[in-house]
Amino acid sequence: MALIVQKYGGTSMGSVERIEHVASKVAKFRAEGHQVVVVVSAMSGETDRLLKMAKSINPRGSSREFDQIAATGEQVTIGLLALALEKAGVKARSYTGPQVAIRTDTSHMKARIQSIDTERLRADCEAGITPVVAGFQGVSPDGSTATLGRGGSDTTGVALAAALKADECQIYTDVDGVYTTDPRVEPKARRLDKITFEEMLELASLGSKVLQIRSVEFAGKYKVPLRVLSTFVDGPGTLITLDEESSVEDPLISGIAFNRDEAQLTVAGVPDRPGIAAAILGPIGDANIEIDMIVQNVGADGSTDFTFTVNRVDYDRAVEVARHTAQELGAKGVRTATDIVKVSLVGVGMRSHAGIASQMFKALAAEGINIQMISTSEIKISVVISEKYLELAVRTLHKSFGLEAGTT
Ligand code: ASP
Ligand code: MG
Repeated sequence: MALIVQKYGGTSMGSVERIEHVASKVAKFRAEGHQVVVVVSAMSGETDRLLKMAKSINPRGSSREFDQIAATGEQVTIGLLALALEKAGVKARSYTGPQVAIRTDTSHMKARIQSIDTERLRADCEAGITPVVAGFQGVSPDGSTATLGRGGSDTTGVALAAALKADECQIYTDVDGVYTTDPRVEPKARRLDKITFEEMLELASLGSKVLQIRSVEFAGKYKVPLRVLSTFVDGPGTLITLDEESSVEDPLISGIAFNRDEAQLTVAGVPDRPGIAAAILGPIGDANIEIDMIVQNVGADGSTDFTFTVNRVDYDRAVEVARHTAQELGAKGVRTATDIVKVSLVGVGMRSHAGIASQMFKALAAEGINIQMISTSEIKISVVISEKYLELAVRTLHKSFGLEAGTT
């Protein structure tokens, strides 16, 4: 008999029929003798609807009130699921985050969990009752409801699994696992049986939106075995583990991620002298804009082109700041591009194998795809290319690294 935390996302809770389907899944696990603690999201679209309504009254209102409103989405679904479980013959009790006592810090709308009282949940499990806990929310030190940031129910699930020392945290969603790349771009993408936390973290931060990034960090830190599965199709899903023991058959690359949300700025013709990088990037940082990739090139005339990327949401502000700096430095000007994408290879196998970068660059070159920027980490290589080559680049790399269905 295992203790399993099961988190069901917004699509899984999207209608009364779907909630009854979730109840039947939970009932099946209970019938097999497992203890289950359920965590749920609001019905899909509900959190957006609630926040839109709040903003329509007062867009700059206090985040405490936004949280008060946003947290109601999950309060509805816990009650509905508890009713559906009762009907299915499973004893259940619903709890909001504050009722469990999921304690957070004071940063409303992006609160961090600090501790969890597990007594009630444990007592319920021992009494054969299935607790149904609202995801995405907790209680701040002053007793206010605080939410954990969008997608935060994943983090609730993982945090409860860690606190309860559960055998596994299962994240039920509308896809049947983590894929080698986005199947909408490469139909031959394959579900991975397993992936390491590190790789998952890279894929998640590069824009693969299966799990909230913080939940993966949390699971890695507390060594919670995490599984992503479909609510609608039975299958083993993808297990996210610590285990890095590789066997010879393991592919070197686990996945290919891409990010369309980048924009590129080049401060052209700046003098090549100490302090220039700080002079350009300092004001960007001061404006609270995060920089992703950086390239600096010294031209034949001894002047420097300094290129960096930022998130598209920060693009307009970044251009304004960079133009100002360029003027102060006596640079030639600022060139910009928003028609770019970042494509990344991710795999722990890179640590022990040379030649992955050159294989990547050769494959792209063979298709006539120009690489504009490159950055690497221990388990990742990213390139910036023109947006029009996104599909071609992803498919080319997917094939070149043997990730296609049926090849491993
Ligand atoms: N309902 C929240 C959201 O839409 C939390 C979640 O679903 O994970 O962001
Ligand atoms: Mg989600």
